[in-house]
Amino acid sequence: MINDMKAELERILFHARRILEMQHTVNDESKSALQIEHSVLKLLGKGDRKICPECGYLFQGNGWDGIDAHWRARHESIMPYSEAWPLIKAGLYRRQSCRLPSDLFSDD
Ligand SMILES: [Zn+2]
Repeated sequence: MINDMKAELERILFHARRILEMQHTVNDESKSALQIEHSVLKLLGKGDRKICPECGYLFQGNGWDGIDAHWRARHESIMPYSEAWPLIKAGLYRRQSCRLPSDLFSDD
């Protein structure tokens, strides 16, 4: 019975992540999906996983392992890693991409 419930939660998690992967902007759907992901992870006893505050990417393994490569590859243009990391670590980082107009980063 418990295993059935866990399997059900894993399925919800899978769908929440698929939604997150498809979203490239912050909207109601991605916010809900992120909230669901957090809640389900907590229920499954995986609540201490770290999540990228900029895009919601879930880090696998221990704590923030891999954040620096992830950040440099995906968010370096928003804020240099050296500036972002102290904020992320302290839990003070706030998502930048929804505050800035997207055309700010286009080349033309
Ligand atoms: Zn990210």
